[in-house]
Amino acid sequence: MGLNTALIFLVFSLLVLLRLSNELYRHASLSRSKEEWIVDFMGLIIQGVIIPLTPLMMIPLLKYFVPSLHQSVHIDPIGQFIISFFVVDYLYYWNHRFFHSKTFWHIHRLHHSSRHLDVFATSRNSLVTSFVFIYVWAQVIGLYLIQDPTFFLAGFGCTFALDLWRHGGVATPKILKNLMSPILILPEHHIYHHAVLGRTKNYGANLNWWDRIHGTFSNEMIQNENLEKLPSRSIWLEIFSPRRIGK
Ligand SMILES: [Zn+2]
Repeated sequence: MGLNTALIFLVFSLLVLLRLSNELYRHASLSRSKEEWIVDFMGLIIQGVIIPLTPLMMIPLLKYFVPSLHQSVHIDPIGQFIISFFVVDYLYYWNHRFFHSKTFWHIHRLHHSSRHLDVFATSRNSLVTSFVFIYVWAQVIGLYLIQDPTFFLAGFGCTFALDLWRHGGVATPKILKNLMSPILILPEHHIYHHAVLGRTKNYGANLNWWDRIHGTFSNEMIQNENLEKLPSRSIWLEIFSPRRIGK
């Protein structure tokens, strides 16, 4: 837990510094409306404080109801990392794709309301959405079942750090773009996903392989501006009581 928290804090701080030290980026980030600050601050509290408490609450409950399964599974370090970084990433691809179906779009709509992406908007979600991410529950199950889940947690640490980077609103240097674009969902790929035109593309989180396999990958690059806008309903309703009001 400690190493993951340190990694996430480091990546978050670095992205804030990079964002605020560039005049154009800084102007875009600070041009948020009061509502946008509220929704992003709430998102960071929910995902940074409430969600990390989920394993702390769930594991004692599981220990009480199914004590025999606690730390009952031995998985070697490589296997642990493969499960949390690759397998859960594939499940997240479908998790995210279902969010874009008519049935679930209303709980994902708020995440797609940023005018531009930056690290502050990473966790912009309705409260309920934060609890239906596959990685929240995969983490609880793995932590409960696996003996010494150090490498299982390391996979999630990398996933969460990449999530911040993907939303960070900092352009990827060309050399890194060329190196990583066959493997990872880059910030530029994710910006396209956040635009109305690209909503049905680039659902992946860590790896772009799942989008490539299922025909939803796009290498289209667009400017990180005028992507979408806040829903017309009260921001508090969007956070605590999202409703279907059409796509
Ligand atoms: Zn989406």
